[in-house]
Amino acid sequence: MTTKEGGCACGAVRYEVRGDPIFVNNCHCTLCQRQTGSTSVVNAFFESEQITLTQGELGEYVVTAGSGGPHRICRCPQCGTAILSYYPRLGRLGAGLRVGTLDDPGAFRPDAVIFTASAMPWVSFPEGIPTFEQSYAPADILPPERLARLMAMVERRKAGEG
Ligand SMILES: [Zn+2]
Ligand SMILES: [Zn+2]
Repeated sequence: MTTKEGGCACGAVRYEVRGDPIFVNNCHCTLCQRQTGSTSVVNAFFESEQITLTQGELGEYVVTAGSGGPHRICRCPQCGTAILSYYPRLGRLGAGLRVGTLDDPGAFRPDAVIFTASAMPWVSFPEGIPTFEQSYAPADILPPERLARLMAMVERRKAGEG
């Protein structure tokens, strides 16, 4: 299993992530725009145990997710760089890693460009990556092995974990 490394802007927080993501979204929703101050975010979703902090620690900052539940953004407490997020659906079982914090930010290619309906009007979308006006059903685009990893987390969450 390959390991990739990343960290925050000031260098206090470093992490390792093992293996391939379950899915990668490039999200242009207005919440992501506000949280990043930019056009969109690129999040790679992993089982949380695939991500290990190797230096420093993360502070949690809670905002309201689009679904209404708590979206926990984990940031370097010193420089504020957002490293990963926990979303209401999977709790702390699954983490959305901000791909731009990888030492090689090109390592994970998005599976989907989502919430294009609210993209900034001058943004153009990449060829060869599916686009969705809002979201998509994971079963529609994920290969079976990755869908199975997602469903395993959904089942653990239903059983009360996370
Ligand atoms: Zn930092
Ligand atoms: Zn978003």
